[in-house]
Amino acid sequence: MKNYFNLFFIACVLFLSSCSDESINPVSSTDIQSNAKEHLCLDAIVPEDLLENPKLTTHGALLKSKKWENGQTITIKFLNGNAFLQNKVKQFANQWMQYANLKFVYVNANQSADIRINFDNSGGSWSYLGTDSKRIDQSKPSMNFGWFNNSTPDTEFSRTVIHEFGHALGLIHEHQNPAANIQWNKAKVYSYYGGAPNYWTTAQVDNNIINKYSSTVTNYSSFDSQSIMLYSFPASLTLNGWSSGWNTALSATDKNFISQEYPKSKPSAELRNLYRYNINAQHFYTSNFAELGNRYYEGVLGKVYSQQVSNTLPIYRYFNSINGDRLSTLNWNELKGGGQGGWRYEGITGYAYQSAQPNTIPVYRYYKGGNRPDHFYTINSSEVAGGKYGYQAEGIAFYVVR
Ligand SMILES: [Zn+2]
Repeated sequence: MKNYFNLFFIACVLFLSSCSDESINPVSSTDIQSNAKEHLCLDAIVPEDLLENPKLTTHGALLKSKKWENGQTITIKFLNGNAFLQNKVKQFANQWMQYANLKFVYVNANQSADIRINFDNSGGSWSYLGTDSKRIDQSKPSMNFGWFNNSTPDTEFSRTVIHEFGHALGLIHEHQNPAANIQWNKAKVYSYYGGAPNYWTTAQVDNNIINKYSSTVTNYSSFDSQSIMLYSFPASLTLNGWSSGWNTALSATDKNFISQEYPKSKPSAELRNLYRYNINAQHFYTSNFAELGNRYYEGVLGKVYSQQVSNTLPIYRYFNSINGDRLSTLNWNELKGGGQGGWRYEGITGYAYQSAQPNTIPVYRYYKGGNRPDHFYTINSSEVAGGKYGYQAEGIAFYVVR
């Protein structure tokens, strides 16, 4: 993972429609869609990092390693541009702030800044991803706008500024979301982007269009065809007639997603009962009464938290699909993600203490083998003590609130 943090560089290049004589970008000429501007953002990845970590080329929604700290103040400055352009950028960039728990503070040109904005009509529009903006030289821009002038319409400011600031918050292109499932007509995609005005190589098309990010390096929501981070794709590039239009504003999912990634307030932790059930001599534990209701119900061990609080750890829950045993443990390394010997990871039951705290009570763990093995948890140290019913003591599993 060496040098992983600064591998990605996003360059977004505008292509003007064929109705225009102007070529803003050196590679711009005509566009297949008439009367439409095509704004394409090209990911450039440091070549040695590609060799070292080829999986990173399979691209998501937000790169976890490039996230800002929640609640952080991000400083921004303009390297050039007139007051009109600067104010338009501020106006649309600030839309993210309605949903993300981040603060944008604009500083003077002589101060250092996390994000440095440049207006250069020869360079397309692009932004470094998330905290990568801090990692490049202070004298260099971390974001460029390549096609703005004093007569640019607000829809274009909206589309481009919100999109580039999405990258600056760590978001990648929506069509490369791990959850995207676009049925590409690959031959058409290669020829479309391989021709004028893009002239992308097969590898560039793979990196910028077809490959998805790995789900392990990204946080992501389900694919969103309305996302500000999605390219416009004509139906001719897909096998099933799917297409996407120009998205010029934050979608409902964009708003929801960024507010989850940078939450304004954490959901407060509440205490929930930890219920015990006995399903034909195999026991089951849950903090959600609705899961089994009154059937098989045996009682309450104590309370666990719904969110992690100081000194607590998650109770990982597992089910053995071969023998019906169930395990609850604070130790992830015990079974990890499951997969061995029929064990299946089912999620977090709640959060409990690893050591005694005021107003807590130990939960003892026992195990019984045989055809119907059972991990058994009790707050009553004599319930199955001394080998009763074949149970062997395994120590204290965790501490629950009384
Ligand atoms: Zn982009």
